[in-house]
Amino acid sequence: TVKWGLIGASTIARQFMIDAIRSQPDGEVVAVMSSSAERAGAYARENEISRHYGDLDALLGSDVDAVYISTTNELHLEQTLAAAKAGKHVLCEKPLALTSTDARRMVEACHAAGVVMGTNHHLRNAGAHRAMREAIRDGRIGRPLAARVFHAVYLPEHLQGWRITRPEAGGGVVLDITVHDADTLRFVLGDDPTQIAAVTQSAGMAAGGLEDGVMTAMTFSSGLIAQTHDSFTVKHAGTGFEIHGTEGSLIARDVMTQKPVGSVVLRTPKGEEELSFDREDLYARSLRQFHAAIRGEDQPSATGEDGVWSLAIAEAALEAARTGRTITIDPKL
Ligand code: NDP
Repeated sequence: TVKWGLIGASTIARQFMIDAIRSQPDGEVVAVMSSSAERAGAYARENEISRHYGDLDALLGSDVDAVYISTTNELHLEQTLAAAKAGKHVLCEKPLALTSTDARRMVEACHAAGVVMGTNHHLRNAGAHRAMREAIRDGRIGRPLAARVFHAVYLPEHLQGWRITRPEAGGGVVLDITVHDADTLRFVLGDDPTQIAAVTQSAGMAAGGLEDGVMTAMTFSSGLIAQTHDSFTVKHAGTGFEIHGTEGSLIARDVMTQKPVGSVVLRTPKGEEELSFDREDLYARSLRQFHAAIRGEDQPSATGEDGVWSLAIAEAALEAARTGRTITIDPKL
């Protein structure tokens, strides 16, 4: 059995990750920690978790094997370093930290401690994205030339908190959503970006100088170019992901999401073919693979290094928007 401790009494844990852990035959949620003992207690009761803690050392001093970190982004660094020191495996939410330098420290600490570290980039676990990756690997669109990611959504009212008000907590749409696009592009294309240009906007939702909309343009090692559009303020666009190659196009709709939904169409001179893919829960698959990594049989679906990459890309996007220049992406791994 893998005994999990939750660091953070969060929405994402309540909505997806507690169920994902419990869906594993060998997964158990044994404890939750919040910065408020009262909130920890209430959360534990609501989610039927037997133990709760109001401080990190108490959780890390207990018999948990692994921790899932889903606090606000500025806390991930110190919590990961402490967990690694205590010999606990770490599955950390994205963005791993506020800077890629800090994220690299987290990866190094987990390696040094001999614990597994994963980044919860759930989209790698989507059947739709795995089907696209496979189609590209099989040469079904020839040489990929260009990609477009549509990930402009409306931030639900219950999440309109630190993401749009607290720069010091890592708010803003780039650290929230662009990191996911960056990771999904790397995963599906099997390619890494080298340069990025970006423009951001504050369309009326985010405060404190934070951006709530962004468009980026990237060049990848292969020469492919990609564009992304992320937002908290776009209500009716729907999401999508397209990859256009020399021999065909992959057109995916409704796939930049937390649920195993959407469609992928392969368009070639022969016509259109809808690709079939598995509809397993994304977070459950992430957990299954993390457990396999603990057993030494596999890697987490997104590693700590993948989290460094996505943050380095987001960081470069923010710098590009701030300076009006094209920025070289270097995760320094
Ligand atoms: P929440 O705002 O729900 O939770 C974040 C923290 O806010 C909690 O750890 C909690 O602190 C604090 N908090 C929650 N409720 C209250 C309250 N009523 N009063 C005061 N503080 C409160 O964040 P999310 O669940 O949306 O996001 C958490 C992390 O997960 C982020 O890093 C985010 O980027 C990531 N995320 C990832 C997703 C994915 O699909 N991979 C999807 C959504 C989020 P405490 O623990 O101290 O109680």
